[in-house]
Amino acid sequence: MPEFKRQHYEKDGATFDAPAYAANGWGRGVAWYVLGWETVADEDTEWSGEYVRTGKVLAVMVGDDRPFRFDEDDLKPVKREDFCGECGQIGCTHDAYDRSDT
Ligand SMILES: [Zn+2]
Repeated sequence: MPEFKRQHYEKDGATFDAPAYAANGWGRGVAWYVLGWETVADEDTEWSGEYVRTGKVLAVMVGDDRPFRFDEDDLKPVKREDFCGECGQIGCTHDAYDRSDT
């Protein structure tokens, strides 16, 4: 999973424990890696160094590196064998992932 330094977000592996997610609406048909909760600076950030959650989720399309913003409700977990690790398409199996025992 790619890492982003400039884009602020808070990881939450307990909530987002699936290997990838399918998005409702825009981005449908493609798997997304969830980065975590989007966070922004507020008036205290300058001295506290703390960022606050916006309630939105940041995710990047599998095979891409640009973060997009989602509502948590619009993201549904997908199993690793159900998406392609190269192009990100759900249902594509042209990556080398071993699906034989699933
Ligand atoms: Zn593919």
